[in-house]
Amino acid sequence: MSLSFSSSALVVLKKRYLKKDKNGRVIESPEKMLQRVADSVARADKDFDGTADIKALAAQFYDLMSKGWFIPNSPTLMNAGRRLGQLSACFVLPVEDSIESIFDSLKHTAMIHKSGGGTGFSFSRVRPANDKVLSTAGVSSGPISFMAVFDAATETVKQGGTRRGANMAILRVDHPDIEEFIACKDDPGFLQNFNISVGLTQEFMEALEKGGDYELVNPRTRNSVKTLNAPKIFDMIVNSAWQSGEPGIIFLDRINEANPTPALGEIEATNPCGEQPLLPYESCNLGSINLGKMAEGGTLDKNRLKAVIRTAVHFLDNVVEINKYPLKEIKEQTLATRKVGLGVMGFADLLIKLGVPYDSEEAVALAHDIMSLISEESKKASAQLGEARGNFPAYAGSIYDRPETPYMRNATTTTLAPTGSISIIANASSGIEPIFAVAYTRRVLDGEKLHEFHPLFEEMAKEQGFFTEDLAKNIALEGSIQEMTNIPKEVRRLFKTSHDISPDWHVRIQAAFQKYTDNAVSKTVNFPHTATREDVEKVFKLARETGCKGVTIYRDGSRDHQVLSVASRS
Ligand code: ADP
Repeated sequence: MSLSFSSSALVVLKKRYLKKDKNGRVIESPEKMLQRVADSVARADKDFDGTADIKALAAQFYDLMSKGWFIPNSPTLMNAGRRLGQLSACFVLPVEDSIESIFDSLKHTAMIHKSGGGTGFSFSRVRPANDKVLSTAGVSSGPISFMAVFDAATETVKQGGTRRGANMAILRVDHPDIEEFIACKDDPGFLQNFNISVGLTQEFMEALEKGGDYELVNPRTRNSVKTLNAPKIFDMIVNSAWQSGEPGIIFLDRINEANPTPALGEIEATNPCGEQPLLPYESCNLGSINLGKMAEGGTLDKNRLKAVIRTAVHFLDNVVEINKYPLKEIKEQTLATRKVGLGVMGFADLLIKLGVPYDSEEAVALAHDIMSLISEESKKASAQLGEARGNFPAYAGSIYDRPETPYMRNATTTTLAPTGSISIIANASSGIEPIFAVAYTRRVLDGEKLHEFHPLFEEMAKEQGFFTEDLAKNIALEGSIQEMTNIPKEVRRLFKTSHDISPDWHVRIQAAFQKYTDNAVSKTVNFPHTATREDVEKVFKLARETGCKGVTIYRDGSRDHQVLSVASRS
């Protein structure tokens, strides 16, 4: 059965994905869009094998996408087979400690945003505010003031008329401006086009455990300039996150332990939503398998899943090949590692279909099962491609450079994206998040609103005979059905929303997926408005203990505007 696009999907597709003529009239159907993407991505096979059956491969790609089993990231859908041809969602750009470098990066950021990509930066190399500027004998303005420049540029450059850019700023916890950074988004109007995360180091985590001090280092001189109390800074992070949802935290030590190409340098930053750690100038294209479609008759069809994984890796590697990179440096760095990020959406839908509550040991076990399978199969697929097409050029010196893994086409194969837009297109629950609501209002672009039921709930309600128009209205208003005693208990247990799930379970599911993910996991740990700072602190610590690479929290009602809220459910 092919994907029947929901009304929300059609609104999103028409606004941003489908080809338009000069007058802004849509001149492409969703099916034609998928055909355009399938044809252009399949064509890459010709580079390796003159006799390749491109038509058959395109049909296979089309089949996966039209069934809603696998969807690549938005830029691939928007730009494949078109003049722009930029297909990646994730970029990291370097920001060195010079005006030239900072403004080069600003220009490159604008170019990436125009093409639909999101950008992440580490500002850790920029000298602190009020430090010396030798050439002018003046004082520097510091990372936060430069972030404001990037923010203003982002505000101005609408992405090819489609979506406004998104950025991630990371500052190491040992940068002298860290206190100002932690609090910089307490003012809700400031840096609206940025997500921010504090880069925690091993030294900091050790000091935190001991309740002691750690050193701040000026990146220009490399001198230690003062010491701060680690628990005090941690409290500041917790407090700001509790107040505004930001900053998030990322564990730089852990990210670098998993760096597949340490010889190419240290990883200092991630893309905007945090799921893709990258080297400077590296980009990555993502794609997600819709797990809700991997179940048949109440059981997970592992053979189907395996087949989809293999085709998806082939697809993503072809995207690396045909991608039109916005800059020479990005092309070089990306082609050296050929990172791709296969992940999932519809995990919550799958759980409902299998009758498994999200906040249960069974769900955690399933997360392990599914992600270990995706990891294993995607690596096998990448190894096969490596044998046929050649290894990624930075293979020598990489973690795969050993006799057991002679072939590897991609330095990473797995990433868990938020799937903000593509989950709407596929009518799936986003990423690995619990369902957002049983009935909801979607704010899709420019404030347009759409009301919808969770399709599986509607089905169940009709089957079990408790579906009424009134109930529908109430659910849309309430969001949660946990207190609605007229709905059977088992149904309520299955349809817990993000807010009904306790923060611990959010983290445990994230950690289960992270364990088998090369890159990172995009996940928001939701708290009720009444949550305390201690609750937030506990989750930060739990994320560390359970092996997460970072964590982002959101306390209900603490922020009206989110960077990526345009396309997400509200
Ligand atoms: P999609 O569903 O559109 O494919 P995701 O919500 O999964 O995208 O986000 C994946 C990545 O795409 C983000 O981490 C970010 O790098 C990029 N991205 C998402 N939304 C935007 C945006 N509005 N502008 C720029 N980049 C974005």
